[in-house]
Amino acid sequence: MNAPAASKAKSYVELRAQFLAAASRQQATLHHYPHPLKGLQGEDLFTDVAVLAQPGTRKWLVSVSGTHGVEGFYGSMCQTEYLDHLATRERDPKVGILMVHLINPWGTSWQRRVNEDNIDLNRNYLDFARPLPDNEAYEALHPLFTKECGTGAKRAESDAAWEAQVQAQGATALRSGLAAGQYKHPDGLHFGGFEPAWSHLTLRSIMEKFCGDCSDAISFDLHTGAGAYGHPMLMAIAEREYPGLADAERIYGAWIYKILTRPDQTTDTGISAAATGYTSQAMVDLMAGKRFTQLVIECGTYDGVQVGHLAVLDDHFLHLRGELSGQEFQRVKAAIVEFFYPSDDDWRELVWLRTRQIFDRALADLAAR
Ligand SMILES: [Zn+2]
Repeated sequence: MNAPAASKAKSYVELRAQFLAAASRQQATLHHYPHPLKGLQGEDLFTDVAVLAQPGTRKWLVSVSGTHGVEGFYGSMCQTEYLDHLATRERDPKVGILMVHLINPWGTSWQRRVNEDNIDLNRNYLDFARPLPDNEAYEALHPLFTKECGTGAKRAESDAAWEAQVQAQGATALRSGLAAGQYKHPDGLHFGGFEPAWSHLTLRSIMEKFCGDCSDAISFDLHTGAGAYGHPMLMAIAEREYPGLADAERIYGAWIYKILTRPDQTTDTGISAAATGYTSQAMVDLMAGKRFTQLVIECGTYDGVQVGHLAVLDDHFLHLRGELSGQEFQRVKAAIVEFFYPSDDDWRELVWLRTRQIFDRALADLAAR
């Protein structure tokens, strides 16, 4: 193998064009969900949905890319490659393929983890009619991330204070609290929002439209940036046990990392086990009553505490300042893309290989039911 052909795209515009082209080659039906804002190059933004299915399909393989916008470079690459891969293998026509391409298109285009409202979409899948979770650990850290901390001496102080907290609390506990999500500071990190985001509502309507009357589905949310470099972790993340977990363990065995989230829970996987509002739990709730399994593929890149925190923080300050062009903009964007989508061709080949294996197993299992 070599680096996948679809790995070379450098922008939302290129990712979208190659995904739509691959979908057309496979005669997929396409649906386009227009986003209200423009992208980095002034382009119109869409979440695109490709469907390969016969009428009346009741079993589905679902994939969602770009929940964290910039991570969509990996997810989109795999969706595009998989469309072409499907043409090379026998496929049970009774199992449909549903690809939700770049659910946070603004974030992908602007090369950000968050969405247009600084929302961490993977903390936004909550019932906003109910009281929102508190996050005391984040409250203590928030003063390090305000606009004033973004430049000069203040930035150096903020970085030093962060480093002191890493030493005092340990990286795992510190990041777990930070990344758990917070619902008070729209200018902070891991802000979960005050209401459902455009992407949240769009994903719900897509799932209801295509999978509302399905019997079986296995769904993947595609991420990067946590875990060991070049290691795609296959994770089941949920607030509680549900029947689809047994299918996941049967299909994937030792590949599965099962994480049940709880306020006091930590994990050494690099994701937050204390977080609320995960896409995963929302999908499980949405598909209650069906034979449904929700999984996350999380591909490790560089060190999350050192490199990743800095890349996300630099990008955070850049946008708080509204500095949306120039040398610093270019430097910060190059760094955040490299963190979430390493330019190393062998990394790209490896994550694609494992993702393809995971999708293939899911398809085979759905076909055998
Ligand atoms: Zn992610």
